[in-house]
Amino acid sequence: MRMGYGWDSHEFKRGVPLKIGGVTLDYPKGLGGHSDGDVLLHAITDALLGAVAAPDIGSLFPPTDPRWKGANSIVFLEEALKRVNEAGYQIVNLDSTLILSEPKIGPHTTAIRARISELLGIPGDVIGIKAKTPEGICTDHAAIAHVTVLLEKSAKRKSRKSSM
Ligand SMILES: [Zn+2]
Repeated sequence: MRMGYGWDSHEFKRGVPLKIGGVTLDYPKGLGGHSDGDVLLHAITDALLGAVAAPDIGSLFPPTDPRWKGANSIVFLEEALKRVNEAGYQIVNLDSTLILSEPKIGPHTTAIRARISELLGIPGDVIGIKAKTPEGICTDHAAIAHVTVLLEKSAKRKSRKSSM
């Protein structure tokens, strides 16, 4: 088995759509950054890459490269998933915590979980989505995501029956 951990943060910015976990949320501000600023997909990508000791998201998709300007973060996630599969692993479960003052994530948890389930090809019941407001850490201007993943060697590439 392998575990992976990813962390990311992006600053809120007016005039861009807010994308979290591949879902566009209705909010007057989005997350800045060279790509679409999807803080949760970036943290998941880094957790997957870290679990198979691959280079991190910033090394594979450098912000200095114009190819990734405004890029859909799903591209990054798909590359990470490909590397996990090539290394012979499959996802057992994933857990995440978002830290942001606004908007409330609770009403969107179901949609975000469904989207991540679809993107990673894993059931929704192995995807943890938690959200907290930043208490005493002065990060109201930003969104932060922490993600852990657990991988297991895949006996057969397609099967995700757990051997645990
Ligand atoms: Zn990011």
